[in-house]
Amino acid sequence: MDPASGRTIQDLSDIPGLHIQTNVPLSGHTRFGIGGAADLFVETKLEAAFLSALRVIRHSGIPCVIVGAGSNLIVSDAGYRGVVLKFSGGTMEELPGSKVHVQAGAVLQSLVDFTTAHGLQGMETMTGIPGFTGAAIYGNAGAYGHSMHEIVDSVRFFDGNAVRKITNSEVEFRYRESIFKRHKDWIILSAVLQLRPGDAAALQATSARILDIRNQKYPPSMKCAGSIFKNYLFQQLPADVQAQVPGNVIIEGKVPSAWFLDQVGARGTRLGDIHVADYHANLIYNAGSGSAADLTAVIRDLKSRVTGRWGIPLEEEVQYVGFD
Ligand SMILES: Cc1cc2nc3c(=O)[nH]c(=O)nc-3n(C[C@H](O)[C@H](O)[C@H](O)COP(=O)(O)OP(=O)(O)OC[C@H]3O[C@@H](n4cnc5c(N)ncnc54)[C@H](O)[C@@H]3O)c2cc1C
Repeated sequence: MDPASGRTIQDLSDIPGLHIQTNVPLSGHTRFGIGGAADLFVETKLEAAFLSALRVIRHSGIPCVIVGAGSNLIVSDAGYRGVVLKFSGGTMEELPGSKVHVQAGAVLQSLVDFTTAHGLQGMETMTGIPGFTGAAIYGNAGAYGHSMHEIVDSVRFFDGNAVRKITNSEVEFRYRESIFKRHKDWIILSAVLQLRPGDAAALQATSARILDIRNQKYPPSMKCAGSIFKNYLFQQLPADVQAQVPGNVIIEGKVPSAWFLDQVGARGTRLGDIHVADYHANLIYNAGSGSAADLTAVIRDLKSRVTGRWGIPLEEEVQYVGFD
């Protein structure tokens, strides 16, 4: 309880529109299918309820983590001691000037389908990226040479005290980074996207073509998080490493971490049910009933192999929940 406000976690049950559950296995809320129980799992589609819950939780002092669809999460086998809060409000609305207002809980694929059907260009290459729009902004998700930073006009978020709005440049987007990764207590509520007029049929055809390719690489039933590690920005690699990277593996200024992982024999590595794909060294999946302990052990092993051989750190793209 927060002595100043007198608010406790029990106050959550007074907020209409919240679905509150106790002792919820997070394996059911992550694409990896891994993770122990959360003390409390609270979900809502209503922004007002979400904000009220954030305020109560903040004042209670209880630890809290926000999740979307759980497609980029590794949750510890011990679960999470605190509140896991999920906002699934997903309204989308076209605004004048090829803009779209979208809530953070909108499924990204629904947003791709909405924008392409409305003849709005800019999201079609993001087809097949699992998860919600809020998390896609948080991690500047992207694919096929494009990412969220190109289309985000402004973002509304709760900063722990008040709702604020910041513009694209203030979000400080970088490769798979935004200001929200550095301010974990800033919670995205909605965004306005700036798209361009396009031909709906052509955009839908592009999106369908990419989705086919992606479904082969990441079968929809695969328990994984997409790429585990970020790629490297070529310019940021030490000169001696740059000199060893063949020119044809550099794509849009990045060297896939899979290339480095291939050099250290990562493909096919296994520990229990945790497997590194034999066709892609930066893809780790849970082949059955894998554990977070095995998953993090494989990640540590791959990181140490790459650092040992090249002297460069591999940085995770996935986000951890429930680890100290
Ligand atoms: C098969 C597969 C393929 C993938 N391919 C790609 C790809 O091509 N490109 C790519 O970029 N990613 C890819 N990913 C990763 C993943 O889809 C993205 O990271 C996605 O944006 C995660 O969305 P989510 O809703 O599942 O977020 P979660 O995994 O639930 O959460 C991710 C992070 O976002 C934070 N977060 C969630 N919602 C909010 C909010 N409202 N405000 C603030 N923080 C929030 C969470 O706290 C957490 O740290 C792939 C994943 C899978 C499983």
